[in-house]
Amino acid sequence: MCPHTPPCPDPSGPDREAARTIIGHPEQGWSLLCNGIVVFEDTGELLPDGDAIEPHRPTDLIPAAPIRRRSAAATTHSPAA
Ligand SMILES: [Zn+2]
Repeated sequence: MCPHTPPCPDPSGPDREAARTIIGHPEQGWSLLCNGIVVFEDTGELLPDGDAIEPHRPTDLIPAAPIRRRSAAATTHSPAA
C-alpha cells in the first residue's frame, strides 16, 4: 500500500498517527495520512473504513482547556510586569 519503506502503520493500529502526511491543509484543520486516515487539528480522526475517532488529546487550539496554559503563565516571570 505504501510506496516507501518502512510502510506506514496500519490504520487500525495504535500507532496509526505515525503515518506520513501526504496531504496537509492546516488552514482547513485537517491532514490526510499515507494510511488513509484523515487527522483533524483537534486530534479527531476519520478512519479509511468510515469510523470516526473523537478528539482524544488536549491541544492548544481548544480554548476550553486552559489549565495547562494557566500553570505555564504562573511560572513565567514577565520582564514587562
Ligand atoms: Zn506510507
